[in-house]
Amino acid sequence: MKFKKRKRRSLWIDIAFSSAIMAMTAIALLLIFNTSDSSTSASPNKSAKAPKPEVSINSTDSTFPGIKIVTETSNDLNTPFAIQYPQSEYTDFNNRIVEYISQWKARYLKTNSSKNSTTSKELNISFETLQHKSGIYSFVMFTTLSMSANDSQSEIRTFHIQPETGKGITMAELVGRDVEKLKRTAKVVRDHIYQNPEFKDILLAENVWKPTEPLWRNYRNFALTDKSIIFYYDAGVFTKKQAGPAVVEVPLEKLNPFLAKEFQVKVTQKPAGKKVALTFDDGPDPKSTVRILKTLKKYDAKATFFMLGSRVEYYPEIAQQVAEAGHELGNHSWNHPSLTKLPDKKLYDEVQGTTDIVKQVTGQPATVFRPPYGAVNDRVRAITNLPVVMWDVDTLDWKHHNPQKLLAKVKAHTRNGSIILMHDIHKSTADGLDAVLAYLQSQGYSFVTVSELENY
Ligand code: ZN
Repeated sequence: MKFKKRKRRSLWIDIAFSSAIMAMTAIALLLIFNTSDSSTSASPNKSAKAPKPEVSINSTDSTFPGIKIVTETSNDLNTPFAIQYPQSEYTDFNNRIVEYISQWKARYLKTNSSKNSTTSKELNISFETLQHKSGIYSFVMFTTLSMSANDSQSEIRTFHIQPETGKGITMAELVGRDVEKLKRTAKVVRDHIYQNPEFKDILLAENVWKPTEPLWRNYRNFALTDKSIIFYYDAGVFTKKQAGPAVVEVPLEKLNPFLAKEFQVKVTQKPAGKKVALTFDDGPDPKSTVRILKTLKKYDAKATFFMLGSRVEYYPEIAQQVAEAGHELGNHSWNHPSLTKLPDKKLYDEVQGTTDIVKQVTGQPATVFRPPYGAVNDRVRAITNLPVVMWDVDTLDWKHHNPQKLLAKVKAHTRNGSIILMHDIHKSTADGLDAVLAYLQSQGYSFVTVSELENY
């Protein structure tokens, strides 16, 4: 688990420098933690002279000012445990932590009476300290209680303290006590859960809604860092139980509009580069399209190809090359008729037939639609179901067949966000494309698909 990997750095150092109980503690910890820390050379030897059951407690300074780490270990082979927790200068906070620890210890030690005294039992409580630039500490307590090799439970609980005041921090304070903002936060959290690739195979999607409902009590278990709020959910709440507790880290940038001022972060906006979408209609073509693909590759340019279904059927391998090169595929009808004049059935066949063959041949869907001659009305829009994409730079390449004129049209009309219309069935277009891309690149344009343009 990611969580475990991040924690134990300063802890081991602290332990290394602690007092005379040291050797015993280290062995007990090694037994219990079962880490693969190769720097610790002692190997546990259970047959060694059985030490008296003994609990050791020691307290060391942490690397965080004002925070001590308390370590409690028991080498009782029936109920070994290793527990670390933070303590501060504030009694309230300390009591809350100790109470939490005590509950787990009580639950664990009660099991001592059961006959099954194999050594696989253990209680391990450790913690990680996260800090926000305001000084607020979040302590993430990670507990694992194992009763046997295949019976264990784990839990993550968070505690917070502001070192100046000794008070905690709540979600209500983070969002300025505004329920509307909690609602918006809840939506961001849910989106994060649904889209997290780590949850892909373990998510119980139907269970996400309830524990993320915008109620204050659903948003207590979190840690705050300079970059994010990290929410913790118990195993089985909305992920498969055996996967352990779920960790959902939401960048503060995404929550910015809902956060109280002191928790907002500066949103780093990428300098908005100029973009242009190159589009090629009426293909694919076994000669020109292939040459155009080469030129696009040379400039690391992505483009959009509005294909005719009839030509995809005729040149499937060219359509495949376009798709494999990562360009966007568009639907330009089957036979290039003026669609507004067609009866519904015919119109549907023109559009759907092309959608079907593009998918069938390339394995990718056509994601945009361009009507032949730009002839479009509500009836056409309703039947296509895809975004209708027109253009603002008409190169007239089909008319002049002249690479110089192609470049001249592009120079005269292209601006940031332009969609340039060309046709990948003309030799002159394939001939002139290199000069067009060289020019646009020199002007600072990057080449994107139409769907990557923000407003098309
Ligand atoms: Zn066309």
